[in-house]
Amino acid sequence: MPSSPLPDYRDPCGWNRMLSPRQPQPVAEGRIRARYAIVGAGYTGLAAARRLHELDPSADIVVLEGTEIGEGSSGRNSGFANPRDSKIGLSTTQMERAEKLNEFAAEGFAYLIEAMDRGGFSCDLEKTGRITGAATEPGAAKIRSMAEGARSHGFAHEFLDAEGMRCLIGSAYYRCGIRTEEGYLLQPAALIRGLADSLPAEIRLFENSPVLALEGGAPRRVRTAKAEIEADIVILATNAAIKHFGFWRDGLVTIYTYAGITEAMVPEDAAQLGIPAWGLLPAHRLGTTVRRVGPDRMMVRSLYAYEKPIDPARARDALTGCFHRRYPMLRHVPLEHVWGGTTALTMNGSPRWGQLGPGLYGSAGCNGSGLVKGTVLGKRLADMIVTGDPQEALQAAYGRADRIAPEPFRTLGFHVISALERRKAGAEM
Ligand SMILES: Cc1cc2nc3c(=O)[nH]c(=O)nc-3n(C[C@H](O)[C@H](O)[C@H](O)COP(=O)(O)OP(=O)(O)OC[C@H]3O[C@@H](n4cnc5c(N)ncnc54)[C@H](O)[C@@H]3O)c2cc1C
Repeated sequence: MPSSPLPDYRDPCGWNRMLSPRQPQPVAEGRIRARYAIVGAGYTGLAAARRLHELDPSADIVVLEGTEIGEGSSGRNSGFANPRDSKIGLSTTQMERAEKLNEFAAEGFAYLIEAMDRGGFSCDLEKTGRITGAATEPGAAKIRSMAEGARSHGFAHEFLDAEGMRCLIGSAYYRCGIRTEEGYLLQPAALIRGLADSLPAEIRLFENSPVLALEGGAPRRVRTAKAEIEADIVILATNAAIKHFGFWRDGLVTIYTYAGITEAMVPEDAAQLGIPAWGLLPAHRLGTTVRRVGPDRMMVRSLYAYEKPIDPARARDALTGCFHRRYPMLRHVPLEHVWGGTTALTMNGSPRWGQLGPGLYGSAGCNGSGLVKGTVLGKRLADMIVTGDPQEALQAAYGRADRIAPEPFRTLGFHVISALERRKAGAEM
């Protein structure tokens, strides 16, 4: 077992730094007894906790987070949320599956909105639509095919040529793009803080309390440095860090990816960033995500590293390059915050989810879209635990995650595929 069970978060999360300081909940100490113990307070863990409380209000629920709220990957992401999975360009069979996935995505999104309304907190949620942009000819071919799919399926969309893209986002970097109506942007650290701080008082959240070991059958014992928690049911909502406990080692890959936010720009510079709110996803999956942050900042997200983080200085240089290539007129604007975070990748995009043993459950592998997917998977895991409903419709829609080749083929395969894909992605990066 690696010594720290947590992902290697080397730099503080920029989104969290931009908020006012927050007092974390206490560290878990002593012997604690609970009906449910949830390990990990990301979107998945907090949705599971909330739902367990709704369905079983008198039960003791404990949530253990290894770091501080806002410093996990649920605070480190780019803040793109979509209540519908994109269906553009899909075949008829894929369309049927996409419809089902959309229903679950809509449920996850609605659960987040309900939590915001009940908790009365804001996370700068804004419906901005979604832009997919292409900077290369293969990328442009993909955009044309998406536009063709949108036309044939009757989805509202706007095809943008290079000049249209420049008017929208202020950058002449892209050859073309497509803009669809669905798509929200938000401040992820504000969201995860709001979710944690508005948990019902009966749910006890402990922060800076990494779970080091899991023991026993039923009840189970969860150990941290200072506490021993005995619980009838344990949920591992640690995303790829679940591998520390010996689960799904052949089914999940940890990918580190990086983001940076510029310093606040003077009005003349900010005036060059296009319309007031927009978010752009790349035409190639290894490409760079870009979005506006408030009136005067930009965020870029790029780079992928397999299982281990990359050197922070290298990440800063690469992200600065991504920003300045797109906005050469803003070469004097530096990135104020740069940080990395993790996603858990499965080969076919299907999550790992369900019962792991008596009184033990887990959910992991949201790939790059855990904001909504993690929420619905956490919520439905709680449904399954309390009601006994095996959630067949959900499992059928998301499908089973494929096994990943054993080592050393896995590492070798990842490096070969990512080198090939990086060549293909070219200027989309
Ligand atoms: C840079 C970046 C950009 C991204 N952009 C987007 C985006 O725009 N939209 C989107 O939907 N998704 C995005 N993602 C992915 C998204 O952040 C994840 O899918 C999401 O965070 C998964 O939620 P989760 O709750 O399952 O896992 P996590 O958010 O990883 O939460 C798991 C929690 O468990 C804790 N933990 C781990 N081990 C232990 C332990 N042993 N004891 C106690 N606690 C432990 C961790 O500290 C963490 O807080 C991005 C990710 C990154 C890194």
